[in-house]
Amino acid sequence: MYYDVVVAGGSVAGLLSAREISSNGFSVLVIEEDYEIGTPEHCGGLVSISGLEELGVIPFRKTYDHMIECAEITAPNGKKFTINSKKQKVVEISRRELDKQIAFQAQKNGAEIKVRTSFQEITDTGIRTNEGNIDCKIFVDARGVSSLIHKDRTGILSSAQYEIYADWIKKGKVEVILDQKKYPGFFAWIIPSNEGKGKVGVAGRGINAAETINEILKEKGKYSTIRKIFAPIWIKGPIEKFVDGKTVIVGDAAGQAKPTTAGGIYTSGMGGIYAGQAISKFLETNEILDLQDYQKKWTNRFGKEFEKQLLVRKILERIDNQTINKLFESITPEMTKEISEKDDFDFHTSSIIKLLGIKGSLKTAQTLISGELKKILG
Ligand SMILES: Cc1cc2nc3c(=O)[nH]c(=O)nc-3n(C[C@H](O)[C@H](O)[C@H](O)COP(=O)(O)OP(=O)(O)OC[C@H]3O[C@@H](n4cnc5c(N)ncnc54)[C@H](O)[C@@H]3O)c2cc1C
Repeated sequence: MYYDVVVAGGSVAGLLSAREISSNGFSVLVIEEDYEIGTPEHCGGLVSISGLEELGVIPFRKTYDHMIECAEITAPNGKKFTINSKKQKVVEISRRELDKQIAFQAQKNGAEIKVRTSFQEITDTGIRTNEGNIDCKIFVDARGVSSLIHKDRTGILSSAQYEIYADWIKKGKVEVILDQKKYPGFFAWIIPSNEGKGKVGVAGRGINAAETINEILKEKGKYSTIRKIFAPIWIKGPIEKFVDGKTVIVGDAAGQAKPTTAGGIYTSGMGGIYAGQAISKFLETNEILDLQDYQKKWTNRFGKEFEKQLLVRKILERIDNQTINKLFESITPEMTKEISEKDDFDFHTSSIIKLLGIKGSLKTAQTLISGELKKILG
């Protein structure tokens, strides 16, 4: 069996790269080890409409029923502030449907997709799968965070996310709960899918994700669980080399999810698109520089923002609960108004910097962050 390209991983990044490559007339096979594209869904599904459009996905009409109107952020002492997010046009989508929609686009262009088929290893002429060997010119590794686990464990946090029914979930309101003792280096979140229905999740360094999420739910009140997932997230930013010989690494496997929130539908998806374009060019010219153009393109687009996000992450990992509580006291209605007006969901470091107390009212935060902040602002 021969294909110009074999992609391992039938999720956003892998399917988008396959869609691009097949649209240029090359043969592509996508192999997915699970039994269904889009399942098991391990995602909160928060994404900007502009991001979806850039990925070339026309959102379903019903997607607009799931617009996020505001984000409520809670400090360890319970103090809250709210950002109005209407302008950012962020939606909650079903990954089961999104991934299938992209799979449909890819096969329409000529790509083939096989589920229940897993990549095992690279061979001299292609790859080995559980169903035998396949020859190819290019192998695309789109296996998500599972591909990074063997390379570097230090950038991985464990997370849990339950889909639940609960009266206290409000349609259109995302909640973010900060507490460095309970969720070190990350946070807990509530993402509504509708009134009384949504996803509650948590991640943190060294936590027992199952125990931690149970504690959150116990505090919140009555609920029914309809689904539980446990998945690693990667928060260390892009890996050094996206292209290694004839292997091209895309999406979460290349560390293309945001270091601040681990959101990757848009940034990992764009990795798939840029890779697909570069692979198509390479298959035409046989010039390795054309293949390497993929990393340049992704870095031009997201490199600076990811560097800032990594610095923000460093700061957030060092801050203790007391400092967060103090920072919340210094947040004024003018600041939240300005962020509501200007924030960009996909390039959000400038808003975080504002919230970190750049206004100068807080000595502790300033001392803590002054050196790093100069780099971010510079
Ligand atoms: C709890 C949680 C919540 C999240 N919430 C959000 C959110 O709200 N918004 C957002 O933008 N992002 C979110 N993310 C991140 C987002 O899910 C990822 O960034 C995105 O799915 C990355 O896509 P990908 O195609 O690179 O990899 P993945 O979606 O991880 O897909 C990798 C695929 O490869 C397959 N695979 C693995 N090994 C093999 C193998 N050996 N052979 C064949 N196939 C294989 C897997 O089965 C999987 O289908 C969340 C992640 C988690 C864990």
